[in-house]
Amino acid sequence: EEKINLAARSPDDLRCPVTVIMGHVDTGKTKLLDKIRKTNVQEGEAGGITQQIGATYFEKKTLETQTAKLNATEAFDIKIPGMLVIDTPGHESFANLRSRGSSLCDVAILVIDMMHGLEPQTIESLNMLREKKVPFVVALNKIDRCYAWKTCKDTPIRDALKEQEEGTISEFRSRSADTKLQLAELGVNSNLYWEMGDDDWCNSDFIPLVPTSAITGEGVQDVLMLLCQMSQRKIWKKLMWCANLEATVLEVKAIDGLGMTVDVLVVNGHLREGDKAVFCTLNGPIVTEIRGLLTPPPSREMRVKSEYIHHKEVKGALGVKVIGNNLDKVMAGTPVMIVGPNDEEEDIKAEVMSDLTNLEAKLSTD
Ligand code: GDP
Repeated sequence: EEKINLAARSPDDLRCPVTVIMGHVDTGKTKLLDKIRKTNVQEGEAGGITQQIGATYFEKKTLETQTAKLNATEAFDIKIPGMLVIDTPGHESFANLRSRGSSLCDVAILVIDMMHGLEPQTIESLNMLREKKVPFVVALNKIDRCYAWKTCKDTPIRDALKEQEEGTISEFRSRSADTKLQLAELGVNSNLYWEMGDDDWCNSDFIPLVPTSAITGEGVQDVLMLLCQMSQRKIWKKLMWCANLEATVLEVKAIDGLGMTVDVLVVNGHLREGDKAVFCTLNGPIVTEIRGLLTPPPSREMRVKSEYIHHKEVKGALGVKVIGNNLDKVMAGTPVMIVGPNDEEEDIKAEVMSDLTNLEAKLSTD
């Protein structure tokens, strides 16, 4: 059970939910991520989305403009400060999700190819999300492949469906019913989200289904809206910002001029330059001083001048590149810890590795 110290945290200080896109290969995860980014960029929302390390950050303002396009009766206050979407769908860190003590992501998009229904990795992702109790929406993707689909670029899904002929609607109905049945066979109750009550998205175990096209953009705003709703209504307690460091290695990469770097997702707490950090390697824990904390510049123009912005301190949730010595054997998907002034280095080393030991034990019994 997760220990939540409610006293030290506040509902007025929520952090960004960390969102991942999961699903079977070729269902459209990459395209959907591109589409979510582009839909926002094309709106001319300068500064509305920012590239971070390993993740894309959506400002609250961007979430507001996007979700406002849905029926006015669904307008709602966005209380989360933004959203962090992990850039690599099916990232190897998330393959470890089911085995890790704490889940890396807060909400998820499970992509299903509407033409194929459930596939092996769909079921695998589904099981991980259920086990970790991560709320998610199902994107029934490739709706534009339905017979004689009329493109309604970047339109809320219900508006797009109104434009379709009888034959298209009937194919859509039958395909979504098939998927619903397949999900039900796995014990997952689901429904087209607008056929559910408002509260059902947040308070029941029913999974909302959103038809989408990652190519033409129908349904993309609907997905964002549901993720925001789930974040602030279902898991807001988990999203109350917490000073205890919670951070995970996304990737270990050599960068020209910087040497080996570690891309870290900081979910809660701070990382600071000069911190004594503990990482996992296959050969055991390493302790190293954080020599630099880098993020990409906020705009493309700046990118020409400098490759990265240096920070003295960063606050979760965000993605950051860490530079330091001896980082080459650090493993993706493992936690990062800091040796604080009152900590024993040996205790922290043991704690970092305990996560990995549990992981190995679990993997060998799978
Ligand atoms: P991933 O493996 O899940 O990341 O899938 P991709 O995003 O690479 O997409 C796989 C293929 O499906 C590509 O050829 C995409 O162009 C195509 N695709 C993805 N989404 C859609 C969609 O909504 N409609 C159509 N027609 N094709 C799509």
